[in-house]
Amino acid sequence: MADPCDVCGAAGGMRPLLEVGLPGVGPVWIHRCGGCGMRQVRPRLGAAALDALYGADYFDSQSAHGFAGYARQRQRYDREAFFLARELRGLAPTGRFLEVGSALGFLLASLEPRTGWEVEGVELSAFGAWYAGDRFGVRVYRGTLEEAGLPAATFDYVLQKDLLEHVAHPRRHLEETRRIMRPGARLRVITPNGEADVRPLRRAAAELGPDALPSLGQGHLSFFSREQLLRLLGGVGFRVLRVRSIGIRRGLRALGTIPGRSSRTGVIRRSALAARRPSGATGGERVAPRGREEVAAEPEPLLTSGSSPSAVTGREEVAAAGPEPREEQAARIDAEIAAHHRRVRAWRPYFHYRRLVKRLDALPGALAYGQDFDLLVEKR
Ligand SMILES: [Zn+2]
Repeated sequence: MADPCDVCGAAGGMRPLLEVGLPGVGPVWIHRCGGCGMRQVRPRLGAAALDALYGADYFDSQSAHGFAGYARQRQRYDREAFFLARELRGLAPTGRFLEVGSALGFLLASLEPRTGWEVEGVELSAFGAWYAGDRFGVRVYRGTLEEAGLPAATFDYVLQKDLLEHVAHPRRHLEETRRIMRPGARLRVITPNGEADVRPLRRAAAELGPDALPSLGQGHLSFFSREQLLRLLGGVGFRVLRVRSIGIRRGLRALGTIPGRSSRTGVIRRSALAARRPSGATGGERVAPRGREEVAAEPEPLLTSGSSPSAVTGREEVAAAGPEPREEQAARIDAEIAAHHRRVRAWRPYFHYRRLVKRLDALPGALAYGQDFDLLVEKR
C-alpha cells in the first residue's frame, strides 16, 4: 500500500518534516524517510500538478531575471557544448546522445555541429520542444522520458541537468533512463545538494508566522544527499565513475557556513496558495520578500520568461490562442539573444577561463558543501 522510499525502499516510513508553498500547486509537505533520511514532497504530485508546473510554458527555472537571461544562457550552453563535445569525441567518433530536460535546446544546438554524434532531446514543455525543433532543427520528444517511450539500449550518453529533483518518481525515472542506454553507456546527472535546498527553507520557516510559508519556488520535489544519490544510482544498476560537488560558494551560503542569503528562498502567503488550483492561471498576490529576493506567489515564476509586462501578456496569449503568439514569444527570445550577444563570451580563451573558474568552485566527491552534485555513472 504505502509508497516506498526511492532510495532505500522502506515502505510507510516517510514522516512530515516541513510545510512549504509550491507556487501554482498549493501547500505541500516535505517528508523524511525514517530508513535513510531522504527528503521528498509527499504525496507525490500527480500528472495535473506536474503539468501545471512544467507542461505549458516552463522551460527554465533559472531565468528569474526575464529575457535578459536568454543570451547569457545561450552562450553558457555554447561553452558547455564545447567541452562536452570533446568528451564525446574522446569516447567514440559517433554515437547517440540524449539530453533529458533539453529546455529550449541551446545545448543540443551547440553540440550537434561540434561532433559526429546524433543528438536528441526530451522536454516536458511544449514550447521548449517546439522551439528547439523549429529554430535549431534538433529532434526533441515532448513529454516525460517515460512518455517518450524510446527504444531499449539505444543511447551512448545521456545528460540530465537539473532534472532528477523535479521528477515525481526518481527511481522509476532512473530505471527508464537505464533501459534506453546501451550497456557501458554513460549518464551524467547534475542535481542539487538536498541539504543546500532544505536548510534555507527550514531557516525561513523558523522566522515566519502561521500565515506564510517558505516558497518552494524552484519546484524541487526530492532532496538528496550524496550518499542517497550514490545508493539510488547503484541500486538502479549504475556504476559511479566520478562525483563532484559544484557551486561551492553558493552552497556554503545556502548551508549558512558563510554569510549571505540563499537566493532560493522566498515567502508565500497561505491565502495566496489556498485559492490556487493546478490549472489556475489567474493573478496572484506579490508578497514582500523580507530581505530576500522577491518570489511571486502566482505560477508565472515557474513558467519563467520573466518580469516584463509584455512577456506576461505574450504568455497568456499562448495559453489562450493558437500558434501565432508562440511565434511572437520565440521571436522575442531570438531578438534578446541577438541583442545581448557578447563577442568576448564566444571567444575560445574565454571558454577555458570560465571552465577554470568553475573548476575552482568545485570539490572532489567526499565533500558535500556545494549547491549541486555532478555525477558521472555508467550502465552496468
Ligand atoms: Zn529511505
